[in-house]
Amino acid sequence: QSQDRLFNFAAGPATLPENVLKKAESELYNWHGCGMSVMEMSHRGGATTQFAAIPLNLCKPDDPVDYIVTGSWGDKAFKEATKYCKPTVIWSGKSEKYTQIPSFDLFEQNLNAKYLHICANETIHGVEFKTYPTPKNENGILIADMSSNFCSKPVDVTKFGVIYAGAQKNVGPSGVTIVIIRKDLIGNAQEITPVMLDYKIHAENNSLYNTPPCYGIYMCGLVFDDLLAQGGLAAIEKKNIKKAQILYDTIDQSNGFYRCTVEKSVRSLMNVPFTLEKSELEAEFIKEAAKEKMVQLKGHRSVGGIRASIYNAMPLAGVEKLVAFMNDFQARHA
Ligand code: PLP
Repeated sequence: QSQDRLFNFAAGPATLPENVLKKAESELYNWHGCGMSVMEMSHRGGATTQFAAIPLNLCKPDDPVDYIVTGSWGDKAFKEATKYCKPTVIWSGKSEKYTQIPSFDLFEQNLNAKYLHICANETIHGVEFKTYPTPKNENGILIADMSSNFCSKPVDVTKFGVIYAGAQKNVGPSGVTIVIIRKDLIGNAQEITPVMLDYKIHAENNSLYNTPPCYGIYMCGLVFDDLLAQGGLAAIEKKNIKKAQILYDTIDQSNGFYRCTVEKSVRSLMNVPFTLEKSELEAEFIKEAAKEKMVQLKGHRSVGGIRASIYNAMPLAGVEKLVAFMNDFQARHA
């Protein structure tokens, strides 16, 4: 064993073979020569668990709650809630193929609802809340799934009862879920709540009730340091606006060759879905982009088309390269 390593007798997380750690280090940013880290690859994480944890912790089985559904993730959250309380979809963008967010006076909230739930950024449909509805329920509780725009811009946390996010878009690898909850909402979980979903247990144990995903949390810590070093979330937001702007401009100025149907005022800064007027060219677009070392541009299987996710860590140079490719592709295929 190397001089700088000690002998770790911990019961777990426990010592790992040194040669395995060295291999992981050498492969950290380029796994098997594929140009990506394992941590950046397609994931399975934990925000989905919160779809159940929220109703389990905040309501009794007969309590009404409100959901605004602006895309597939909000819909999944609503469907999960039907198992644990009495949710109502008070507005759905489904008939418009999830391209809009309603003007806030267009839906009626239930005054006796325990909370109002939104998905702050719909990852698949590219629809993002730019302002937030004021909850009219008695305790004034707004809950947001911020999985895909957490830490992409400043947010007034005091406006929310709960904010939750899977880490794997903007702040770390998969396996970590962040939950920010108002203190007075902790401690009323339903009897049937699994211990791991009870916020009280996590709060009382400083999030160390069970064995947490240490490496993932360590990576999140490094990302938070890096965000601060870049000037914090206001500075990050500026960069994100610029990146999104050049991509949407390229789409909007393509004379219909590329199309983004999301209403302009609610277009996501994080996930930019678009289609090609000649949809038969989409596979070619994805193939040629991959040759130019731009990967994972395929739209979600439920909607097809193209989707460019341009989270915090996507450099401006990446977006510039994509728009140069888009212009070139259009010139060759228009
Ligand atoms: N909510 C949103 C907005 C998401 O984009 C995702 C995953 O992509 C989820 C929830 C589910 O997250 P997880 O895979 O961590 O359960």
